[in-house]
Amino acid sequence: MALIVQKYGGSSVGSVERIQAVAQRVYQTVKAGNSVVVVVSAMGKTTDGLVKLANDISTNPNRREMDMLLSTGEQVTIALVSMALQELGQPAISMTGAQVGIVTEAEHTRARILHIETDRLIRHLNQGKVVVVAGFQGVASTEELEITTLGRGGSDTSAVAVAAALGANFCEIYTDVPGILTTDPRLVPEAQLMADITCDEMLELASLGAKVLHPRAVEIARNYGVPLVVRSSWTDEPGTWVTSAKPQGRSLVNLELARPVDNVELDTDQAKVALLRVPDKPGVAARLFGEISQQKVDVDLIIQSIHEGNSNDIAFTVTTPILKRAEAVAAAIAPALRNQPNSDEAEVMIEQNIAKVSIAGAGMIGRPGVAAKMFATLADAGVNIQMISTSEVKVSCVVAAAQCENAIAALRQAFEIEELENTTQNSPSQHSTLNTQHSTLSTQHSALSTPHSTLSTQHSALSTSAEAHPVRGVALDMNQARLAIRQVPDRPGMAARLFGLLARHNISVDMIIQSQRCRVVDGIPRRDIAFTVARMDGENAQQRLSQVAGELGWGEVVLDSAIAKVSIVGAGMVGQPGTAAKMFDALAQHKINIQMIATSEIKISCVVAKEQGVQALQVIHAAFDLAGSEKFVVPV
Ligand code: ADP
Ligand code: ASP
Ligand code: MG
Repeated sequence: MALIVQKYGGSSVGSVERIQAVAQRVYQTVKAGNSVVVVVSAMGKTTDGLVKLANDISTNPNRREMDMLLSTGEQVTIALVSMALQELGQPAISMTGAQVGIVTEAEHTRARILHIETDRLIRHLNQGKVVVVAGFQGVASTEELEITTLGRGGSDTSAVAVAAALGANFCEIYTDVPGILTTDPRLVPEAQLMADITCDEMLELASLGAKVLHPRAVEIARNYGVPLVVRSSWTDEPGTWVTSAKPQGRSLVNLELARPVDNVELDTDQAKVALLRVPDKPGVAARLFGEISQQKVDVDLIIQSIHEGNSNDIAFTVTTPILKRAEAVAAAIAPALRNQPNSDEAEVMIEQNIAKVSIAGAGMIGRPGVAAKMFATLADAGVNIQMISTSEVKVSCVVAAAQCENAIAALRQAFEIEELENTTQNSPSQHSTLNTQHSTLSTQHSALSTPHSTLSTQHSALSTSAEAHPVRGVALDMNQARLAIRQVPDRPGMAARLFGLLARHNISVDMIIQSQRCRVVDGIPRRDIAFTVARMDGENAQQRLSQVAGELGWGEVVLDSAIAKVSIVGAGMVGQPGTAAKMFDALAQHKINIQMIATSEIKISCVVAKEQGVQALQVIHAAFDLAGSEKFVVPV
């Protein structure tokens, strides 16, 4: 007998018929000998409707009242599902977040879960009842009973948190698609189902716009080792397992506020190759990285900064042993990349004796203060940051090799990471840690699926190898804006000031890119810094940064809201030189200009014009042969 948490999303409970179908599935699961906690969302598009009502009354509704309003949606569903179960003769009881004791921080509309009281849940389960819990909501304290919500899409997070707190055998997320697909089937109907995906890959995908799972739910699954599967509530297909490494034995107190950084990493023996002043037009990155992959040069970080005038800088890092080859490729291609008939040739700049220091951890998602703290720590240690590359679960900074010991020591201390156990030194075969980690993950995953024998058997029948495909999924984020700050003085502490300011206003930053070109203005070397934020934060961020421009000595702050970000994700792209080239080539062939590039080990993201976003997603998905022969029809 297993303890299972089943979560049903809005579309799965969108009508009376759907609620009855859900009750049937729950009933069958209980009859098979399991205990079940059900977590539900509001019916269909109820939450959207409630948001609209609030906006009709106020342009800036009070956040406490917003939570009071939005939490009603789930309360309707729990009562109806409970009634439907009782109609089948199955004892059931509905409970709001407050009744369960889902205690959150007092941050209305975006609360994180602190802990979940399990006594009442367990008492009802022991009495043979199915407990139907309202997702997406909690209370800020069990005395004041102030209702909070977790943020849109948050009932996935409720479900995984309940599963972690109860030590459930696994958590099933039921939705309107058969599992996690290579991309959003609403935009690419040929998207293909995955049998499994690692938490790391899923974290990147979810935070990049794959709304099928709330990233915070993946974060909890990863931190607590909750076996997680995404399935369709319309069929009996096995769905997609989201696999995690071994549980870290974390405390269930401060559940979502656990230590944000798990690891401080160092890659030594790095070198940077930068191409300055390459033309800002489709095909340049494709040509450069096409040639590089032909020469079998494995690049690590790639960044392309915003254009100044009408040219770009593209930079990448390689390990020192292959620098000569990388440099030769860049030097050979530079003359061909003349910007304008009479302009300067593109210039190759090499920087040796650099190192990459990174902080990693699922807990930094949506917590802008973590990256800011890294930058501040480096600044305090007198370390200048030459390149920044961010993903949802990692922030990497390229620094001078001579300063890397300092940098690592300061970061370890700031994030309370013990030296021996947690620090990896990945040089010279820098990626070995990741590869090993990946195979460990898959091994552990098959062990994890054993509790439920039917599921795991079906699952292995479907299994596709992660190693066979360097790219697992493609995601599109149409809700971002880009900010560029011109002429930021190039000295330690600038990134810390900048991102510290944004963090204090709760603005999360996604891609961060510093231009490679340094220009001396008023006797001070300066670089541009560009980054992306959620579109709704764009104007606020621009205003805040403009206000301090005089004081901090930087120039204009430019906002562009008409952008889209398209990303590829896959643990298998590590050590596969051609992956970036293939992505850039797909865009070039369709005349889609790349405005920004940023990478992490398992992700490459490109910013393109907003109106080309969907097309970019489609052509990249096709380029990596991710399309299946079957088209998915998402139920209406
Ligand atoms: P629920 O109401 O069940 O929580 P959501 O609408 O939040 O469902 O999430 C499911 C939707 O996520 C799907 O209908 C699909 O359009 C979208 N989606 C985006 N990316 C992906 C992906 N990679 N795999 C599956 N679904 C995706
Ligand atoms: N009903 C909430 C929303 O639409 C929570 C959820 O569905 O996950 O955001
Ligand atoms: Mg959802």
